[in-house]
Amino acid sequence: MTAKIIDGKAFAANVRGRVADHVARLKEVNGLTPGLAVVLVGADPASEVYVRNKGKQTVAAGMNSYKHRLPAETTQTELLGLIDRLNADPDVHGILVQLPLPTHLDEALVINAIAPQKDVDGFHISNAGKLATGQKAMVPCTPLGCLMMLRDTLGSLAGKNAVVVGRSNIVGKPMAQLLLRDSCTVTIAHSRTQDLATVCRNADILVVAVGRPELITGDHIKQGAVVIDVGMNRLTRDDGKTKLVGDVEFARASERAGAITPVPGGVGPMTIACLLANTLTATCRAHGLPEPG
Ligand code: NDP
Repeated sequence: MTAKIIDGKAFAANVRGRVADHVARLKEVNGLTPGLAVVLVGADPASEVYVRNKGKQTVAAGMNSYKHRLPAETTQTELLGLIDRLNADPDVHGILVQLPLPTHLDEALVINAIAPQKDVDGFHISNAGKLATGQKAMVPCTPLGCLMMLRDTLGSLAGKNAVVVGRSNIVGKPMAQLLLRDSCTVTIAHSRTQDLATVCRNADILVVAVGRPELITGDHIKQGAVVIDVGMNRLTRDDGKTKLVGDVEFARASERAGAITPVPGGVGPMTIACLLANTLTATCRAHGLPEPG
């Protein structure tokens, strides 16, 4: 059996297209343009690339993009001052602080200073709590993208055995909450899990967010399972060039899975698409308008 490849690039283009259509209607009918503020502190090269891509795609979807680049030595007070101003700015519907922050800044304090309704990354403690208690929340972009692809592949997820490998606050835990909300039977595995392969082989849905290249092999996969590989590991090849690999050994896993996301071209593109979708949702909520479906 060869797995169906879940095309995250095409899926993300579709999500971005729907967001852009909705944004165009908001402008025409309500005279509203969603605005996303992205704050980058310091000059981490990977963060620079992410921020540039986010800005480009925000503008391509018809939204306003506000970039705030601050020097690495920015103080906590200065950063919190900027967040206060963005919280109060009616043209800003979403605020994203690019992580990681320089080590002298307290990430949790900074994230929790963002107004929860503008927290389009869904990392604010109040959004995490709302998600865990079944209330309307801003949902973290990467797990939201995974959920969309799972629903598209499987239809209803109710009753499926789902295993999430990884328990981070930004991927593993919210992913498990979303699967639980869709009535899966959820297991969360992590570095202390015993006999990971047996745990994974019970999964109809396997979501892997670990950050270990090809940790999950074909032996971990139940025949016909849907496998979502969140991992993004940059490896240097013999010729000195780098390549991106996931947490799942794609070739062997594809022989057993029913459907699988590739790396690159799977979960990655969905993350920014969901950021745009969250910014649109935040705009609609701020103005009491119906939310996108
Ligand atoms: P973290 O490092 O925060 O968490 C990794 C998790 O994996 C931890 O819960 C850890 O367990 C668990 N883990 C580590 N080793 C093992 C092991 N041998 N067996 C089982 N579990 C293990 O990572 P993130 O959640 O932030 O990211 C995970 C991956 O996803 C990374 O490759 C990252 O680059 C990628 N990512 C991709 C995104 C995208 O847009 N595609 C977005 C975000 C992340 P423990 O808690 O016990 O330490």
